[in-house]
Amino acid sequence: MVLQIYNTLTRKKEIFTPLKNNLVGLYTCGPTVYHYAHIGNLRTYIFEDILKRVLLYNKFKVKHVMNITNVGHLTSDSDTGEDKMEKGAKREGKSVWQIADFYTKAFMEDIKKLNIIKANIFCKATDYIKEQIELITKLEKKGFTYIIEDGVYFDTSKLKDYGKLAKLDIEGLKAGTRVEFVKGKKNITDFALWKFSPKDKKRQMEWDSPCGKGFPGWHIECSAMSMKFLGETFDIHCGGIDHIPVHHTNEIAQSETATGKKFVNYWMHGEFLNLEKEKMAKSGENFITLSTLEKRDFDPLAYRFFCLSAHYRSSLNFSFEALESAKNGFEKLKNKIWEIKKEKDKVKKEIKEKYREEFLKLINNNLDMPGALALLWDLIKEKEISGKSKLDLILDFDKIFGLNLKDIKEEKIPKEILNLVKQREKARQERNFAESDKLRKLIQEKGYTIEDTKGKPIVKKGV
Ligand code: AMP
Ligand code: ZN
Repeated sequence: MVLQIYNTLTRKKEIFTPLKNNLVGLYTCGPTVYHYAHIGNLRTYIFEDILKRVLLYNKFKVKHVMNITNVGHLTSDSDTGEDKMEKGAKREGKSVWQIADFYTKAFMEDIKKLNIIKANIFCKATDYIKEQIELITKLEKKGFTYIIEDGVYFDTSKLKDYGKLAKLDIEGLKAGTRVEFVKGKKNITDFALWKFSPKDKKRQMEWDSPCGKGFPGWHIECSAMSMKFLGETFDIHCGGIDHIPVHHTNEIAQSETATGKKFVNYWMHGEFLNLEKEKMAKSGENFITLSTLEKRDFDPLAYRFFCLSAHYRSSLNFSFEALESAKNGFEKLKNKIWEIKKEKDKVKKEIKEKYREEFLKLINNNLDMPGALALLWDLIKEKEISGKSKLDLILDFDKIFGLNLKDIKEEKIPKEILNLVKQREKARQERNFAESDKLRKLIQEKGYTIEDTKGKPIVKKGV
């Protein structure tokens, strides 16, 4: 069955065909390690993980490269503002290297908790300065750069198709007024390839280069490292939608100018996670991390489950109420699986095949995760399959969902809850229904549900 994915470059869903037979080159823009990742960033990494799992499920081999930005990313996309790393170091009274190290580790812990498969190669920008300088030199030789007081810039007016990914309205941008502008920059869309160190100050991160001491601009690392590991043209490049107009547009400009070849065949972008009406930010109250969720008793995988409920090309609104309901859905799913584990094995081959086919159709239709989840619930309810056969199929689906369903354990119900259940049973037998209702509500508030059966009542985690 063919895999279809949406390509931002063409604005179309296309059949995916890798360059090399069966091997897919995948590059995903990684974190800027000056702070913890927020749950918006994590949504994008989860989308990329689903993509990778779908590729693997389709029996492709995947070479996945992710960069770690530890230099050169300024607080504004227009080459002005502070260096994010230096800002982080100042905030915590540490060196930039310590900051980078600490937040890289934190990032690795987050992705592990979210059951995200690690990239084959994680590359730090500072380990590939030589490659970045070489790329800049190539662009200089081809006459696409100019030097101003602040650094070496790429002249976007020399490129006929600049902005093709974002379908940028260059004339409209020129007319735009509120964009910060660097002194001496020729065109509003020009961007820094190399920034000079200030003359009166030593930076913590700076390198010698043929054009002067300084540090790389943010975009050049992704061009240099992706081409180093995946070749001058490769298959898929991903990130969040915010990267379309600036970061990825500039990666294309640099790479294609340097090589004269198409840089990437398929560009895929994840929509944003939004806080109700507000922007997710790396500062202030809107800065929600995985630890924030854990502190409020949410399992990181419940957050993954929450992300699966929306298609990656739809924006998703976050609220703790919405996460709570995803958590309950996830608990219900785990309970159902536990019940299936105890069932007798029964299977109708053609029904099992029908589920497999339908599942593949959904995931290969541009990663339709909400559709795939709905199919999982249908399968759970399916009467023609039960026990081990049903479980095998669910675990096969979980290769994509990544919810660790094979490891679920039966929840131990705390003594406090069991006591409340006992009290409620007693009230019921005494036909004191007001009291029994009150107790049922109390049990529910504590996150458990009672199902009354003919024999003993069954109590389960989740409401
Ligand atoms: P950064 O660390 O800022 O470079 O961002 C890491 C990744 O998260 C990039 O792919 C961004 O496009 C993505 N991203 C940033 N904010 C959000 C958000 N609110 N929702 C989803 N993805 C985001
Ligand atoms: Zn990037």
